[in-house]
Amino acid sequence: DPKDIMRSVDPAALYMLEKAKDQNLISSYDRFAAQQPQCAFGYEGICCRICFQGPCRIKPGDGPGSKGICGATAYTIVSRNIARMMAGGASAHSDHGRHIVHALLHAAEGKLADFKVTDVEKLNRVAERIGISAEGKTENELAVEVSKAALEDFGRQTDEPCTWLTTTITDGRNKKFADCCIAPTAIDRSVVSLLHQTHIGTDADPVNIIFGGLKCGLADYVGMHISTDLSDVLFGTPKPVVTEANLGVLKEDKVNVIVHGHNPILSQTVVNVAKEMEAEAKAAGATGIQLSGICCTGNEVLMRSGVPIATNFSSQELAIMTGAVDVMVVDVQCIMPSVQAVAECFHTKIVTTMDISKIPGAHHFAFDEEHAVESAKAVIRLAIEGYKNRQGMACDIPQIKNKVIAGFSVEAIVELLAAINPETPIKVLTDAVEAGELAGVALLCGCNNLESVHDNNHLTIARELTKNNVFVVTTGCSAQALAKAGMMAPEAIEEYAGEGLKNFLKRLADANQDKLTDGLPLVFHMGSCVDNSRAHDLSTMMAKQLNVDTPKVPFVASAPEAMSEKAVSIGAGAVAMGYPTHVGTMPPIEGSPLVFGIATQIASDVYGGYFIFETDPMVAAAKLLASLDNRTWKLGIHK
Ligand code: SF4
Repeated sequence: DPKDIMRSVDPAALYMLEKAKDQNLISSYDRFAAQQPQCAFGYEGICCRICFQGPCRIKPGDGPGSKGICGATAYTIVSRNIARMMAGGASAHSDHGRHIVHALLHAAEGKLADFKVTDVEKLNRVAERIGISAEGKTENELAVEVSKAALEDFGRQTDEPCTWLTTTITDGRNKKFADCCIAPTAIDRSVVSLLHQTHIGTDADPVNIIFGGLKCGLADYVGMHISTDLSDVLFGTPKPVVTEANLGVLKEDKVNVIVHGHNPILSQTVVNVAKEMEAEAKAAGATGIQLSGICCTGNEVLMRSGVPIATNFSSQELAIMTGAVDVMVVDVQCIMPSVQAVAECFHTKIVTTMDISKIPGAHHFAFDEEHAVESAKAVIRLAIEGYKNRQGMACDIPQIKNKVIAGFSVEAIVELLAAINPETPIKVLTDAVEAGELAGVALLCGCNNLESVHDNNHLTIARELTKNNVFVVTTGCSAQALAKAGMMAPEAIEEYAGEGLKNFLKRLADANQDKLTDGLPLVFHMGSCVDNSRAHDLSTMMAKQLNVDTPKVPFVASAPEAMSEKAVSIGAGAVAMGYPTHVGTMPPIEGSPLVFGIATQIASDVYGGYFIFETDPMVAAAKLLASLDNRTWKLGIHK
């Protein structure tokens, strides 16, 4: 029975899967099994549906069946398909970014009473970086100028590259992107151009198509960076926080509200408002309001407000199956439509809030930024009603959770390093690499994908890398997998870290004793998927300190359980920046050995970064360590 195979390494998810089996509740784990075997043409990327003469499926050999009806070969079809995924990913990240820019602009113009500039220092830093003087301007005037500069990066019609690209990367990368003509001039234009380029009968050249894809990957980077910067300006730059993760954070005697999706505008407002509504919850008989998060909107409020993590992408339906969730309020991206079907088996209400993201049967409260607090209060009142309706119904919450220390923005990491070296904080990190104490830095990021055992790739790779003295930073559902498993608790250092990493973290913790009430974690949570921009900034700082370009920095990235279009565009951007970039679940490109070779080898010759496709997490960890080894050896570091 495919239901009996090991489907997760998260004990809370396994507990809920058992319950689901007993009660005949269907989840994504069952649907994944029911979809097997999946279409081999689609899996390899050689099914073309770009025009409706198709679908065309490419067969081996030289006959007419070896090409699409229009004559497209496997390499054209595979490159077009994967490039269109990059356009989808860049669209999602940057549309999220645009939403944040509009919120900041309208708040600074005095049109949104419920939002304001919260982090003036960050606003000043961003303005200075992009060449806008703060002199003689109020913070709102400055925020308006910064917001308008960000909007230029979406819609510029001239040929200057995006400001958020050129001002955040090394000179070497700027030159490389200009030489290869892949520096985006505007996010929207990059996406539109790529959709045009991959229309039937436009571009057939796989290298040219992949270069168009990389431009979109860099547009994705711009969108992510704008999102991170301006979210920090609106809601504050994260600092270390102590919290918890896994389904045990739900409380039977409280009103349980889960925020799910990606955009902090709604979730942060819900968090801010919940504090004011404790009395209303208590009047309804609850002991209070318990907020928790799923996916990146959960990471946003975890980083800034210490809101606990309920679970990550693959197990989102399982949270509802506890019977304890009164409202799951969602915004955009990674929300399985099935949450509504599961919620209908319980008292749970699903609340959609964005005009581009609705689910039939769910409540839709249009989230109105002009009346944000009122909208958030309405959501919480629905949850309080839900709590009342839940009385007398059974809850089954697995009592499994772990302590989490998170909140590591680049600014927070630099502050920790500055306690050792106030003049050049980043040198503490690069010195540790140059001394051989650390093997390098790795970013673990991305999704869950049920092609692998839920969370297993994330945990295995993190354990192997930390055992071998790699400083691990993490974002997204990867961070949530590591948080749930206790790898963001100080105790994990003793359990998993190699001697070098242990010594490095101890030095850092000792120097910051006054600031850290609970010590440091084994792996550092940098935030949501758009906050991959924070990890990019860290590697750029290392490059500048080491006086090399980013492809020479001992820095690797891994998306151990990637599945979304956003993961494809993030990966493309990471390769262009020069990182060895591991993907632990196969993207649909195996149908063209040429495209596979471009991704894994030719990319390295041109950009210094390349993809490592490896589904065995132990082998993947070994390959990532070998990439770091190669880079430290090239820097002349002999261990
Ligand atoms: Fe077939 Fe070409 Fe149309 Fe694709 S674009 S479906 S390969 S005819």
